[in-house]
Amino acid sequence: MTTGFTRNAQERFMRPRNYGELEVPDGHARITGPCGDTMEFWMHVDDGIVTAVGFTTTGCGPSRACGSMATELAEGKTPSEAARIEQQDILDALGGMPEAHQHCALLASNTLKATVENYMNNQANNSDTQQNSCSNCEKTDCSAKAQQPDESSEEYQDRQQLRQRLCRIRHKIIVLSGKGGVGKSTVAVNLATALMLEGKQVGLLDIDIHGPSVPTMLGLEQETIQNGPDGMVPVELGDMKIMSLGFMLRSPDDAVIWRGPMKMGVIKQFLKDIAWDDLDYLIIDAPPGTGDEVLSACQLIEDLDGAVVVTTPQKIAAIDVRKSITFCRQMQVPVLGIIENMSGFACPKCGEITAILQTGGGNKIAEDMRVPFLGAIPMDPRVAEACDMGRAFVHHFKTSPTAAVMSDIVEAIAKHAQTHG
Ligand code: ADP
Repeated sequence: MTTGFTRNAQERFMRPRNYGELEVPDGHARITGPCGDTMEFWMHVDDGIVTAVGFTTTGCGPSRACGSMATELAEGKTPSEAARIEQQDILDALGGMPEAHQHCALLASNTLKATVENYMNNQANNSDTQQNSCSNCEKTDCSAKAQQPDESSEEYQDRQQLRQRLCRIRHKIIVLSGKGGVGKSTVAVNLATALMLEGKQVGLLDIDIHGPSVPTMLGLEQETIQNGPDGMVPVELGDMKIMSLGFMLRSPDDAVIWRGPMKMGVIKQFLKDIAWDDLDYLIIDAPPGTGDEVLSACQLIEDLDGAVVVTTPQKIAAIDVRKSITFCRQMQVPVLGIIENMSGFACPKCGEITAILQTGGGNKIAEDMRVPFLGAIPMDPRVAEACDMGRAFVHHFKTSPTAAVMSDIVEAIAKHAQTHG
């Protein structure tokens, strides 16, 4: 049974260290992985350091080994450092594991991340006491009203500052995709623009470190970050406020050397420092996949209304979409729905939509994974043209049938956000 396991792993099969529940935990989470095993973690934090982590699992030996190793790796770190312990770190610390059991390490790292998240939420809920003005939020325990954070913890101060900013934003929606080039940024830009055209106060945040496309899509390539008395000032375009990591990079190559923790730091600082003021909607254009930037955004932006997942009709895209949806579920981010982009071809002359390749992949995944299907946007040369011209399609081609499809989708998203947000 133990063939292919290192001694280090085998020792933990029978006698996993840190096995068992902790009393009065500061953070706690339970996650059931796709394999059906459930892992549960309890965490104690003193003076900003993880002092003890306990765990249980319904899985067998490999699951116990991974849970045990994850708890040991977390101890002695700050909660944010613990949240950055990945599947590979656990496998490395165990000296490797047969491929068939490596998912146990993923479950352990996800449960640990969720435990830290729960700790952060508990900390915030316990500490927010004082009153301050916040026009968007009626809660009496709103974190924007806390003025005297515990000065001993940098992390706590960061969290408070982040909340003070984000609390003034009524709805926060992240746009995700399993892979690049499917039209995620196009959807984000047009979603934000359509909401602005409806008279909403909208912010558009582009957190794609390696390929920020929002500046190009809106003709803002020459913009740079400007600092005001209250933090970074977003670029204004009509009534929309825009901020992109692209405004920070002198050259796209600047970001290539940024590794995971640095990306997390950059995104945290970005979110903390942007002076959005009061907004009805913040639309976040994330990079493709479920890497560091997306993880950081989902961890740092509490109370996300949800994620919109963009895909193309091809079967091959389905695997990546499933990953995005599973990721959202693990992060407890609601999936507002799936958009199938480049679905059929819209004739630029008559607007008629013709199915040139197979369509319906997005709808099928939505059904399979029991998430809403928001609609299908055809391939329309004018969408690409608008992007290249640095103009939002829904604004500049607003009478076209494709713009009508986009508007219906935006309406569905806004309705969902208002009902659930
Ligand atoms: P992603 O953000 O997923 O990498 P983009 O939004 O940057 O993708 O889109 C990639 C390219 O595809 C862009 O040039 C964009 O103009 C084009 N595009 C996106 N959606 C459509 C569409 N429905 N019809 C035509 N071109 C599109």
